Amino acid sequence: MGVRMKDIIICNAVPIYEEAPVVLTLLKEHTEEILNTLMKEAVNECFLIVPKNQQVKDIPEGIRVMEAPTTSGFTYGNHSALLKVTENEKAIPYCTNGQLLTDSSFVTVEEVLGIDKKKVYIGGKARIKGVCELNKRTTPEEILEACKSQGTFKGMFFGHPMGRFISASNLKEEILLTTDYIEILDDSDCILNSLLRVIERYDKESCGRCVFGHEGVAQLRMILTDITLKKGKASDIELMLALSHEMQQQSLCEIGYTAANVMISAVEAFQSELEEHITKKNCMAGVCSKFVTYHILADMCTGCNECVDACEDDAILGKRKFIHVIEQDECTQCGACLKACEEEAIVKAGAVKPRCPKKPIPCKN
Ligand code: SF4
Ligand code: SF4
Ligand code: SF4
Repeated sequence: MGVRMKDIIICNAVPIYEEAPVVLTLLKEHTEEILNTLMKEAVNECFLIVPKNQQVKDIPEGIRVMEAPTTSGFTYGNHSALLKVTENEKAIPYCTNGQLLTDSSFVTVEEVLGIDKKKVYIGGKARIKGVCELNKRTTPEEILEACKSQGTFKGMFFGHPMGRFISASNLKEEILLTTDYIEILDDSDCILNSLLRVIERYDKESCGRCVFGHEGVAQLRMILTDITLKKGKASDIELMLALSHEMQQQSLCEIGYTAANVMISAVEAFQSELEEHITKKNCMAGVCSKFVTYHILADMCTGCNECVDACEDDAILGKRKFIHVIEQDECTQCGACLKACEEEAIVKAGAVKPRCPKKPIPCKN
């Protein structure tokens, strides 16, 4: 398995992402092989770290199976946190100065099993979602081919600990895969929304021990949330970049460092789309609800009045047999009318709005 003889070997089988339990699947399928291979690496201490409540049977003498306090988490990408688990202490991540620790005592389940390829969970708009086997050094083009992704391709997000967005213009860039999770993005994905979801996750995972990691991520989340609420300011991108550069320098562990990388990579790859939300108050993908408007198409509306009942904000004008009209100043973009209209007469619009009557007029048919 290529593990150098050390006083201690720590093999981690706790997934970083709950929805991408690649390492856990490997553990379940190859428990005996993993234990036997670890046994052969005779060292003073050998640990196998498993997720909370994960039972492992027939553990040979010489191997200690330690249960992590949770079933998944970014913290298990941190060697210091893994070491803490072996000491039955709280799994807190520790200082890396922006670099992942490289102590060769730490081995992955893939290394133990001698798997040359990287098993990665592909999510998002991939046509075939699930685990794909990829070369460790690969390109976005090869990844798309492996998951048989079709249609518009906008970009990719590489999960923790890589933490990086790339755009369609980087299709041929060689990438060293160090994550179990990739998300495929297409034109129906809003980068601002995707970025906010990632940063929210870092905010949730933050242990709170360092100001730049903890507060920095919280600030990024708040600024991004404001932009989704149409409260973005022209200086926001510059501010978030400055904050991210500080986080890279000052965070106590790579969780804060990686969150900063995510932010910087999103700006590098999709600056114009982020700016469009701030300056033009437009979400090209039609995802950010505050940027979307709802409209009733005159030639589709049958005047059934169902939407009026569905709208709790009394934002729809009309009566039976009249083409209905949405009052934009009253509409809260809740989307209830869209679901209520069986005629599919109600549509969402981004920057380009359909032409609609200003007041209700009798239906022609
Ligand atoms: S960067 Fe975040 S997770 Fe890491 S030590 Fe600081 S607060 Fe904790
Ligand atoms: S928009 Fe739809 S639900 Fe509303 S009156 Fe017209 S057809 Fe009926
Ligand atoms: S989106 Fe909501 S608030 Fe707006 S018109 Fe439809 S139901 Fe009313």
